[in-house]
Amino acid sequence: MINLYGLEIKKLEELMIQEQQKRYRATQLYIWMYEKKAKTFDEMSDISLRFREVLKQKYCLDLPKIHTKQVSSDGTVKLLLEMNDGSKVETVLMRYSYGNVACVSSQVGCNMGCVFCASGLFKKTRNLTTAEMVGEILVLNQLLDDEEKGKHITHVVVMGTGEPFDNYENVMDFIRIINHPKALAIGARHITVSTCGLPDQIRRYAKEGLQINLAISLHAPNDEIRSKLMKINRPYPLDKLIPAVKEYENIAKRRVTFEYILLKGVNDSVQDADQLTKLIKGTLAYVNLIPYNPVIENEFQRSPHANVQAFLDRLIKNGVTATVRKEFGSDIDAACGQLRAKNN
Ligand code: SAH
Repeated sequence: MINLYGLEIKKLEELMIQEQQKRYRATQLYIWMYEKKAKTFDEMSDISLRFREVLKQKYCLDLPKIHTKQVSSDGTVKLLLEMNDGSKVETVLMRYSYGNVACVSSQVGCNMGCVFCASGLFKKTRNLTTAEMVGEILVLNQLLDDEEKGKHITHVVVMGTGEPFDNYENVMDFIRIINHPKALAIGARHITVSTCGLPDQIRRYAKEGLQINLAISLHAPNDEIRSKLMKINRPYPLDKLIPAVKEYENIAKRRVTFEYILLKGVNDSVQDADQLTKLIKGTLAYVNLIPYNPVIENEFQRSPHANVQAFLDRLIKNGVTATVRKEFGSDIDAACGQLRAKNN
């Protein structure tokens, strides 16, 4: 059975042609699936009974199931979703003043080996399919619509479990679907993909012609610290990563965001801020400082507020644009992968 939620419009159009249907049938299906939120093919009343039978026999509209739901006092919702094969992934809803943000997982487990991250506690067992990632958004949309008719996800960050650029094609199709005006119509500038920094994929992504935001998990001002924190820095050190970022900026004409988790005593001194300034000089990037969510399985600690402020002040004094990320859900299992870790 092919899950129709996994098909971006061109692939759905090709499928319609193969099924000896008119090309526009694809858009018609999109409207039923995404706008009218049909759960079954039977509801699709302007599609012939005969073709609806074909659809029922060969295709499906499967969504992930909610295994566990945690709600924080700030309204953040963390779901552990169960896929058809029993795999479980986390999806988070955050309520910002500007909209409802979904944080989407891209893989079951992760192989990137960042020592501070709870997601990496489990090795990757497989990539998520495009349909499963679209399903993450649809499940959250259902939840929002139940709260208030018409409420929906307005922004998406691919910052859940997994490395999106290690599941490149599926993630790109996912983006095309959620961005499509007849599907979820989430604006490209409201979508952010975060990568641990795979230079070849960053270059490939630059040529996609998508106006999506790109965030790079930098987390260190030099190779010595970065290699200790992120295994990926060994094959792809900073002298490979930073040129790829500059190339991206030139080709895509977009600036990236560098994510930088502040870890007490590891990467949070003002000297580190100065080194970071030098490292990213020549890029248009801005820096998003992230308060660390402690993970019980490791010994890292969040930087004290005073260090965060001093680090931020130093970056700004150095002429770097920087902000501190707002925190959500600190009373639930906020750190990436924590809820899943508890349920395995
Ligand atoms: N693999 C991708 C996307 C998933 S991680 C990437 O590396 O960017 C999304 C972001 O959350 C990354 O910047 C990651 O380093 C960060 N992160 C991981 N564990 C965290 C924790 N415990 N507290 C705060 N941020 C964390």
